[in-house]
Amino acid sequence: MSSSLLPTYARADLAFERGDGAWLTATTGERFLDFGGGIAVASLGYSHPHLIAALTEQGGKLWHTSNLFKIPQAEHLAARLVEATFADYVFFTNSGAEAVEGAIKTARKYQSVSGHPEKFHIVTFEGAFHGRTLATIAAGGNPKYIEGFGPKAEGFDQVPFGDIEAAKAAIGPQTGAILIEPIQGEGGIRVPRPGFLRALRELCDRHGLLLVFDEVQTGVGRVGKFFAYELSGVAPDIMAVAKGIGGGFPLGAFLATREAAKGMTLGAHGTTFGGNPLATSVGNAVLDVVLAPGFIEHVASMGLRLKQGLAELKDRHPGVIAEIRGEGLMQGIALRPPVNEFAAAARAEKILVIPAGDNVARLLPPLIVGEEEIGEAIKRLDAACLRLERDRSAAVAPDLSGAAE
Ligand SMILES: *Cc1c(COP(=O)(O)O)cnc(C)c1O
Repeated sequence: MSSSLLPTYARADLAFERGDGAWLTATTGERFLDFGGGIAVASLGYSHPHLIAALTEQGGKLWHTSNLFKIPQAEHLAARLVEATFADYVFFTNSGAEAVEGAIKTARKYQSVSGHPEKFHIVTFEGAFHGRTLATIAAGGNPKYIEGFGPKAEGFDQVPFGDIEAAKAAIGPQTGAILIEPIQGEGGIRVPRPGFLRALRELCDRHGLLLVFDEVQTGVGRVGKFFAYELSGVAPDIMAVAKGIGGGFPLGAFLATREAAKGMTLGAHGTTFGGNPLATSVGNAVLDVVLAPGFIEHVASMGLRLKQGLAELKDRHPGVIAEIRGEGLMQGIALRPPVNEFAAAARAEKILVIPAGDNVARLLPPLIVGEEEIGEAIKRLDAACLRLERDRSAAVAPDLSGAAE
């Protein structure tokens, strides 16, 4: 069947009709355990009663008014984010790329109003992903995403992830900020060594640079902290957020300290849809759950359980799994066979995982998963590994018999 959707995705031949907790029901009636969470978006799983109540209640009242008027739901959500983080200000967007774009603009404007308009360069890291706008593809630096879209946006200087000396060397008279994901998501759940983010913070302080964290994937409880920067013991000046904060409703934000935001004055930035009453009502409902006492601790303990289960799988299947890495409920399985084969084998065992760079399968389950579902996930991933081992030895067998003849 031909599709009228622009063919930029290689989609699995699978569509879903319903979701419930960590489970998705396909149009065929088959049920899948979803450990991809729609790419870290379904933070509270599917059909969470509190989110449905918030969405339907606000949906019956008012969806959109524009930012020409006060939006109490957005005011409330911003105040709660400020209360729970390093930040003094919040600007709401509709996506992660827009959140990062706004973060980049805020950093550049800060340098400009500080008398340094020339300091528009930003140091970024190999393997990064920051979105698909013209600025964020340049920041991410993946040639596959940049090629053919005209001159690469100027001012992004990329260095190897985790290399503090390279970061130091990249800082010049035009550098104004450093932009990094505290844990690379799409790049393959790459966790920097302990102390790296702190070293970047010190570098920024020494050179008058702003530290910008892209927490679009790591944020809102995912890593067993409200935000991943808490794991590092240092805070950024600016932070981009999206994915999990809407629980499935498109919502993003960038957050900044008062100082970092000093250039973002009347008229400096804007959005038509961003922070609308419907999106921010759902965002508030997500925070009701994520910030409730014990919830983030639940994520941390489920994350530990998942990691232990995966470590056992690695021991059982050293020919399939090379490494387990990640924090909380953001775990990566570095694979020996191609990740797409693993994802297909997992799908055959009715569990969904998400391919990432570095030949890694990402596990980003809903934060509400329990012990039973984690046990079930490990069982199904074990079966997927066995399936791959079987297929691989089957692929080798004809060669052997051929040689015998
Ligand atoms: C997904 C992602 C983005 C882009 O978000 P969109 O909503 O797809 O624009 C940016 N940064 C990181 C770290 C992401 O994981």
